[in-house]
Amino acid sequence: MSAPQQSAAPAVPDTAVHDTADPADSAPADSASGAASPSAPDATYDVIVLGGGPVGENAAQYAIESTDLTAAIVEEALLGGECSYYACMPSKALLRPIDVARTTETLPGVATAALEPEALLARRDDWVSHYDDAGQARWAEGAGLALERGHGRLVGERRVEVLAADGTRRVLAARHAVILATGSEAAIPGPLQGIEPWTSRDATGVVEVPERLVIIGGGVVACEAATWMRALGAAVTMLVRGDSLLSSAEPFAGEAVAAGLEEIGVRIVHGARVAQAHRPQAQPTGLGRIHGGPVSLRCEDGTEHEADEVLVATGRRPRLGDVGLESIGLGADEVLAGRLPAWLHAVGDASGEAPLTHWGKHRARVVGARIAAAATGAQPPFEVPDAPVPQVVFTDPQVASIGETEAQARERGAAVVTAQVPFGAAAGTALLRDAVPGRAQIVVDRATGLLLGAAFVGPEAAELVHAATVAITGRVPVAVLRHAVASYPTASELWLRLLEELPRELRAPVGPPVSAPGR
Ligand SMILES: Cc1cc2nc3c(=O)[nH]c(=O)nc-3n(C[C@H](O)[C@H](O)[C@H](O)COP(=O)(O)OP(=O)(O)OC[C@H]3O[C@@H](n4cnc5c(N)ncnc54)[C@H](O)[C@@H]3O)c2cc1C
Repeated sequence: MSAPQQSAAPAVPDTAVHDTADPADSAPADSASGAASPSAPDATYDVIVLGGGPVGENAAQYAIESTDLTAAIVEEALLGGECSYYACMPSKALLRPIDVARTTETLPGVATAALEPEALLARRDDWVSHYDDAGQARWAEGAGLALERGHGRLVGERRVEVLAADGTRRVLAARHAVILATGSEAAIPGPLQGIEPWTSRDATGVVEVPERLVIIGGGVVACEAATWMRALGAAVTMLVRGDSLLSSAEPFAGEAVAAGLEEIGVRIVHGARVAQAHRPQAQPTGLGRIHGGPVSLRCEDGTEHEADEVLVATGRRPRLGDVGLESIGLGADEVLAGRLPAWLHAVGDASGEAPLTHWGKHRARVVGARIAAAATGAQPPFEVPDAPVPQVVFTDPQVASIGETEAQARERGAAVVTAQVPFGAAAGTALLRDAVPGRAQIVVDRATGLLLGAAFVGPEAAELVHAATVAITGRVPVAVLRHAVASYPTASELWLRLLEELPRELRAPVGPPVSAPGR
C-alpha cells in the first residue's frame, strides 16, 4: 500500500534529475567517487531536500511543481519519515478501532464491541506498509523527484554529501536551494539513558505488550499511547512532572483527558520526577519488543515504581546534530532562529516550529512555492502571514484546539471574552453517545469580535475544529459566524450554542451588515 497520508502524484514533468547542465558543476557523474570535492559534484539538482518525511516530500514536490526544475530527496531510512511508519499513521490506526469500541460501551442499541488485539496490530502493520517504502518511492518517481538513498550532510554552500549504506559517497550540488527537513528525535532524560527504554517508536510499533508499563510524560504522545497500551491490556502508570496533563492546552482539556484515562484504569501520578532508573538486563531486542528485564524507577520524592517496560514521552528535539551545519559556519541555534543564508531553508520538525505533520507540510508548501517562484522568476505566491496551527489529541475524549488559549491571550494583554458550553449542549453532540464528556470554548477579541482561539473536548471533537481554523484564518467576526448555519442535528451546531453564550453586542450588533475586515 502506498503511504495513505500522501496525496496522489501531481502532474509535473518527468525531469532529467541527474542534469549537470550548469557548466560550473558539470563534472561527469560518478556514482561512487569516494571523495567529497566542492568543485566536482556527482549530480546537480535545482533543489536538494535533506530528509524524506512528509514535510521533505511536500517541499520537494512544491519546489518543482509545474516547472522544469529538478529536485532530489536525500533519505537515510524509510521514505515517508517518522509520520508514516512510527508516529501519526500507526498511532491513529491503533486508536480508531479503540475509539469505536469505546463508543459502543456508551451507546444502547448496539452490542458492546470487544477489541481483537491481533487484528488491531495487523491493521497497524498494514497502515505502516509493513515498514516498506516502495509505495512512497513510486510516488516520488511519479512526481519527478530523484531519490538519493543515504545520510546527507552539508559540505559547503549548496553542496551535500550523501553517505550510502554500502559506504559509497556522492556529492550533490544544488543550483538554487537546499532544504533541511530532517525531522526530530525523542529526547531521553539522563537518568533513563542506560536502560533501553521504549520511545514512541516502540509504542506505535508494539509487538509485545508489557504487563506493567510506566509512561513518563503527560503530553500528547504520552496520553495517546496510554490509551492504546491500556486497551491492549497493559497496566499503565503515567508519571507526570507537573500537576496536569496536556499542560499547553486549556486546563479543562487536561482534566477531561485525565478523567477519561482514569476511567479505563490508567493510574496518573502527578509531581513525579524520575531521578534514578535501574534495569539489570537492558537489551535492544527490537522495535516494540520488551527491552529486557524489569525496571525500577525512583522519583525525586523517594517514591518507587516497578515496571516491565518504560515508555519515555518527554518531548522531541529537532534532528540537526549531524547535518553538516558547521561546514557553512552555522549551528542549530541559527536554524531554529531562522538566521539562514538565502539558499538554505528549514521546514518541519527540524525547523523548531510546531512539530505536527500538517503544519510542517503547510510550511513546506509555502517554502517550496517560494523557491520555485524565485528560481523561475515568477511572481512570489500569495501567503497568509499568521495562519494558526490546529492540533488534535486522539484520546477519549478527543481534544481539538487552535489559536490562543484564554490564558495565552490574556497574558499578551488582549481584552478577551470567552464562551463555554458542555460538549453535549447541541442535539448533534448529545446524540453521539448517551454520556457525553467534555466541553467546548471559544476565545474572542472583545474589540474586534474576531476569534482568537477555540478548544473542543469531547467525542469526535477532531472534526469540529476546522470551522475555527477557517474563521481565524479568514478573520471572520463572530457576528458573521452566527449566520453560518449548521445543519440540525449535527455536532457543528455546537458553534451556535457557543456563539449564543457571547455578550449580545458581540454576536448580534445593531447597524449595517458586518463585513470581515481585510488583512
Ligand atoms: C507518536 C507520535 C504521534 C504523532 N501523531 C501525529 C498526528 O497524529 N498528527 C500530526 O500532525 N503529527 C503527529 N506527530 C508529529 C509528526 O510525526 C511530525 O511532526 C512529523 O513526522 C514531522 O515530519 P518531518 O518530515 O519534519 O520529519 P520526519 O517525519 O521525522 O522525517 C524526517 C526524515 O528525515 C530523515 N533524515 C533525518 N536526517 C537525515 C539525514 N541527515 N540524511 C538523510 N535523511 C535524514 C529521517 O530518516 C526521516 O525519514 C506525531 C509524533 C509522534 C512521535
